[in-house]
Amino acid sequence: KTSSRKLRLAVAGCAHGEMDKIYEVLAEIEKDKGYNFDLLICCGDYQAVRNYGDLHHMHVNEKYRSIQTFYKYYSGEKTAPVLTLFVGGNHEASGYLSELPNGGWVAPNIYYMGFANVIRFGGLRIAGLSGIFNIKEFNRGHYERPPYAQYGDVVSCYHVRNLDVWRLKQLRPPDNDITSNPIDIMVTHDWPAGIVDFGDKNRLLRIKPFFLDDINGGKLGNPSTMQLLYDMRPKYWFAAHLHVGFAALVPHENKDGSPGAMPTRFLALDKPIPHRHFIQALELDIDDDAELKLSYDPQWLAILKNTDRFTSISRSNAYLPSAHSTERWDFRPKEEELASIFELGDLTIPENFQQTARPLKNDTQEARRAQSNPQSAE
Ligand code: 5GP
Ligand code: MN
Repeated sequence: KTSSRKLRLAVAGCAHGEMDKIYEVLAEIEKDKGYNFDLLICCGDYQAVRNYGDLHHMHVNEKYRSIQTFYKYYSGEKTAPVLTLFVGGNHEASGYLSELPNGGWVAPNIYYMGFANVIRFGGLRIAGLSGIFNIKEFNRGHYERPPYAQYGDVVSCYHVRNLDVWRLKQLRPPDNDITSNPIDIMVTHDWPAGIVDFGDKNRLLRIKPFFLDDINGGKLGNPSTMQLLYDMRPKYWFAAHLHVGFAALVPHENKDGSPGAMPTRFLALDKPIPHRHFIQALELDIDDDAELKLSYDPQWLAILKNTDRFTSISRSNAYLPSAHSTERWDFRPKEEELASIFELGDLTIPENFQQTARPLKNDTQEARRAQSNPQSAE
């Protein structure tokens, strides 16, 4: 299979609602490189804030409680110039995102991946996991509901749940196929704990010396996702959250323990401030006839179907079967389970974005400013 075609991908770290700025930077890179991006992936702290109401559902320091620029893309005042895909972090319009637990369009051309997801684009399989790790919520269901009457709920709603990690672990390839990377790209907000051992740890500690205790305690990042990395073996893993650029290369072993040919390239990106490694441009080989449209991943849909009865919206700890269980615990789709998905036909994700809240128009914002600050009204 020869491929001469490239997918032009931009990856960004914590967006913090700076959509205008990010698309400006992308346009500059495009001019410089002489090509247009096909896709932008944002690694969380995206802040899809539609209006002032959404600010009440975002856990953020008062200093940063700001409407930012996403609302323009929601109201239709602007359209995202590059198809944008994102996972959630720990600063999100959580009320809005809770409308789309399995992912969906948050604005035209801007797709949120939900708690966990795998989708296809240009023939590549892109997986995502939203949130950050916290042991307190790890085994609970997704119980938090807006308006988050209990204040703690706005803090805990973005904590990663084991159910989602466990579902993603069902993407591991069959035992007899260890030569392939089943997933091309994995996107998370926090880093897999242990990843720093596979990169320039000394440089990282020079920039962020206060990470040392957490690194030594195995607590820098999500302690459940390093195993996920070994199970999924993605070609690329992108993350953000720690506000520092960091690259790592994780080799994968063959079944007999010998070094395999497949590594995972990990790249963490910074936040959007000048002179920091916030955006990375990449060119990936794709098939000549690959469609540059988002589509559902049949295997992931089969996994969701296979594991649907474990979905929980309860605060109590959820039970998940493991290898020690007497019941089925391996939910990698069997052939007939995949076939039932293929019967669905075309899996292209429809462009069916709908506004579910009053959009904020520029004039509304002016009025609001005037109202809250009468002295400057004229
Ligand atoms: P955020 O932007 O999500 O509020 O926080 C990111 C900041 O918190 C980064 O500057 C990062 O250095 C710090 N941070 C996040 N998680 C950890 C952690 O597990 N350990 C340490 N030492 N710092 C963290
Ligand atoms: Mn963060």
